[in-house]
Amino acid sequence: MKFIYKLFFLTLIIFLTSCNYNKPSKFSTSSVIPIPDVDLQKKAVSFATIPKEIFGVKTDGYTLHGDKVQKGEFPAEILQSCNLSSLEVHNLVEAAKGKFDFRNMKVGRPYSVLCNKETNKAEYFFYEIDPENYAKFYIGNDTLNVEIKEKDIEKVWTESAGIIKNSLYETVLQNNLSPKLVQELADIYAWSVDFFKIKEGDSFKVLHKNKYDNGQYIGISDVVAVVFNHHGQNYYAFYLEDDGEFGAFYDEKAESLEGAFLKAPLKFYRISSRYQMNRKHPVLGYTRAHLGTDYAAPKGTPILATANGVVTKRGYTRGNGNYVKIKHNETYSTQYLHMSKFKSDVKKGTRVKQGQVIGYVGSTGLATGPHVCYRFWKNGKQVDPYKQKLPSNKKLKEAYHETFFPYADSLKTILNKMEFSNKDLAFKE
Ligand SMILES: [Zn+2]
Repeated sequence: MKFIYKLFFLTLIIFLTSCNYNKPSKFSTSSVIPIPDVDLQKKAVSFATIPKEIFGVKTDGYTLHGDKVQKGEFPAEILQSCNLSSLEVHNLVEAAKGKFDFRNMKVGRPYSVLCNKETNKAEYFFYEIDPENYAKFYIGNDTLNVEIKEKDIEKVWTESAGIIKNSLYETVLQNNLSPKLVQELADIYAWSVDFFKIKEGDSFKVLHKNKYDNGQYIGISDVVAVVFNHHGQNYYAFYLEDDGEFGAFYDEKAESLEGAFLKAPLKFYRISSRYQMNRKHPVLGYTRAHLGTDYAAPKGTPILATANGVVTKRGYTRGNGNYVKIKHNETYSTQYLHMSKFKSDVKKGTRVKQGQVIGYVGSTGLATGPHVCYRFWKNGKQVDPYKQKLPSNKKLKEAYHETFFPYADSLKTILNKMEFSNKDLAFKE
């Protein structure tokens, strides 16, 4: 059989064959690796002592300038301040084409410049694209060189576990865990756990990696196994990639945790009005049924197709404003109202994928503020998606079962042995 379980299966083999049967070799004995404070606001204006090497370049004979991209600052300004002429900056931008687009430089991202001590001219420019990748520019007398490189990131297996007292977010912070776990868990369990109904005593255990750049914590990765205990019931999630394709989380019965529909057409939102038969209309003033769910979000927030389908309508009416309707199959269609604008390549007849951006939040039509009114059609009738038993997305193919079940079992053993660091919070009155 030719299955590529890439990273995950390999890792599993590594930690199953290591001396301690249940734990990856790099596992710490304490249940949680303390995460150092990351002060994102702090500006690294100058280095007190120049490191001997940065990004593989020896700093001998150079002065080093480091900072973060400021609001309204252009790369040309950064480089010109290091004595590059505007022609040289222009040439650099041209040389970078296809590899790096200077327009994508983001406020707050760090950069460093190495200036030749004799000429006082910039020779190297490093821009940190994200915590794991950087762009390296070499500006010689008659050579320009642009490379996109990966940083040397250390990844360490760790376990994160907590018993929830007030909110998931607070619990994560109290346990000195990465706040990114909150979003990870919310994504994994979008269909099975209602995070608005979490109660005291619910708990989570997560097997994942922590990433470090030069010893400094930068985030989490490779979440492979989770158990979320909600109202006394265990919800397991095991990550698996089949044939090197898309990875997904499966429960212990090898069923995908993803729904056929996203729970909401926005990534971050606040539900401002639910589907209800009697509601006083905020604009019209009189009572009538509200057959959609309103998600409030700032104007311009991307709106996502909640499932695969074909766009059947893209238009404008006085009530709906700009709207898109998507047919998913013979049973289900969804509709998205009040858009400020459409995604340009989404037209009538366009095939869209789940999670694809179709337009942007606005307040066109009858709307008091920016939101998307999401309408869910079942057999030609508008229904409340939150009250439907919607189909699950996919089952793991039979052919993978032979590999999946032992894999899931081993991960389950690891999860079961994890301990909570905040036991004191358990079931406290
Ligand atoms: Zn609405």
